[in-house]
Amino acid sequence: MRVDASESWSTIRELLGEVRERASHFLESLPGRPVAAARSTDDLVRALGGTLPRLGRPASAILEQLDEIGSPGTVASAGPRYFGFVTGGSLPASLAANWLAAAWDQNAFSQTSSPISAAIESVALRWLLEILGLPATAGAAFVTGATMANFAALAAARRSVLLAHGYDVDRKGLQGAPEITLVAGEQAHATLFKAFGMLGFGREQVIRVSADGQGRMRTDALPELTGPAIVCTQVGNVNTGAFDPVGAISNAVQTDDVWIHVDGAFGLWARASHQFGELTEGIERADSWATDAHKWLNVPYDSGVAIVPNAEALRGALSLQAAYLPERTGREPFAYTPESSRRARGVEIWAAIASLGRDGVEALVERNCRHAQRFAGGLRAAGYQVLNDVVLNQVLVSFGDDRATSEVIHGVQRDGTCWCGGTSWKGSTAMRISVSSWATTGEDVERSLAAILRVASGVTPNRG
Ligand SMILES: *Cc1c(COP(=O)(O)O)cnc(C)c1O
Repeated sequence: MRVDASESWSTIRELLGEVRERASHFLESLPGRPVAAARSTDDLVRALGGTLPRLGRPASAILEQLDEIGSPGTVASAGPRYFGFVTGGSLPASLAANWLAAAWDQNAFSQTSSPISAAIESVALRWLLEILGLPATAGAAFVTGATMANFAALAAARRSVLLAHGYDVDRKGLQGAPEITLVAGEQAHATLFKAFGMLGFGREQVIRVSADGQGRMRTDALPELTGPAIVCTQVGNVNTGAFDPVGAISNAVQTDDVWIHVDGAFGLWARASHQFGELTEGIERADSWATDAHKWLNVPYDSGVAIVPNAEALRGALSLQAAYLPERTGREPFAYTPESSRRARGVEIWAAIASLGRDGVEALVERNCRHAQRFAGGLRAAGYQVLNDVVLNQVLVSFGDDRATSEVIHGVQRDGTCWCGGTSWKGSTAMRISVSSWATTGEDVERSLAAILRVASGVTPNRG
């Protein structure tokens, strides 16, 4: 069968009505289904594969196939009991905005290609800066995630610290540039090193500063620094949730040619709450921050933000000029991002903040952290060892020895009530619990805790 464009337009209302039904059914099924996927990747490839079709099929048949094959192949990470990695769900307002924005199909490149996307990014940025307590005039890039936010911020850092030495790296390149000293904590996130690689620094040309027992960079272990240098701190260790002492580090080393970057993929959101004042103090004095909206702000994938008070450094590194670009006043989105054409991510960030309000973002962060405390308390009460100081939304737990802990992790994933992943912490296997979703209730935490304890009680560690 051939489907022409006029037929598709005339049936669009019906088609999107079917999407609404199928998506609603999917979301309503999340709390009651096993959290792990029911089908494996290999199995799904077989089910979706087959030969390349010569002729097209109607969209509604494609949608039906996608739902029937694809939905059982999803992890219920949008649901209330997924505690893997650091994973938010999608707030209803944010999901709905994402649907409308998909219909708009805007190119978020510029004011000309999409006035609404450019406008909503500006508003979302102003709100974000206020919630996070960061300088109101900062520039920002709306990117795919913290990996690219780190990349964008470090491109600005590279430019700025070399300009302080009279060298324009974005014109002349790194070959022949004054050498930049790169510093990161022993526990810095793996994606940061990928950003170093992409920027031509090399993944291994980084001085690693030793960490304390919670994974925090030790200020007393910082090297003597002369610029140009970039120091990458982290707020929110993926295992422990711990924060590097950013204020103390910036007091110790920050100058014109020593740039302090903060990877705050999820931890930066602690600044939405007054409760974490002591933890987050001094972070606002850094030179750049990377964060994710798809983690704690609970917007759909993919969504990260790089924030740089020296907006000119970010623009200088990432803007471009072309004959077809009209001169505009005001913020041009493309001037700040590694990408050119891209989707309108600001829409979902704006909708999420509009639906929660400032108080709602604070309440979400605090609620998830209370739930993490409850997990830790329940596990300790049952005699298991919580390995980290639970300062935020992350809990690390051991069930005796490596084998027992691995068995509990796999048992929990098979049980399906909730989903937790594993990690290696100080050379031992640990289970990670990350509470980051708007959808998680106190009841979900109790059900999940009961399931973890039930699985663990059937696993006996080797004693002695
Ligand atoms: C998740 C995370 C990243 C990577 O973020 P992506 O959104 O996956 O690109 C970087 N740093 C930290 C601390 C993280 O938690």
